Amino acid sequence: MSEKPKGLTRDEVRAYLKKKWKTGGNCTVCDANAWVVVEEEYCLPARYEAKNFPVSVVVCERCGATIFFSADIIRGES
Ligand SMILES: [Zn+2]
Repeated sequence: MSEKPKGLTRDEVRAYLKKKWKTGGNCTVCDANAWVVVEEEYCLPARYEAKNFPVSVVVCERCGATIFFSADIIRGES
């Protein structure tokens, strides 16, 4: 029986953002600083090829603006 692959944890994503996010971190849409790291790692499918792009999702809880971070890059740095 194969084990379910593990995605990045919220703590890993938060630690990465803390290290990398050098500006004030306010939302470019509503200027709040109220980001939420989404629990699961997601994959964006390629439009015309059988491949995908793993992402960690960060959402502004005030206005819903959503940012994707490359999960592979976060993994490479954690
Ligand atoms: Zn916002």
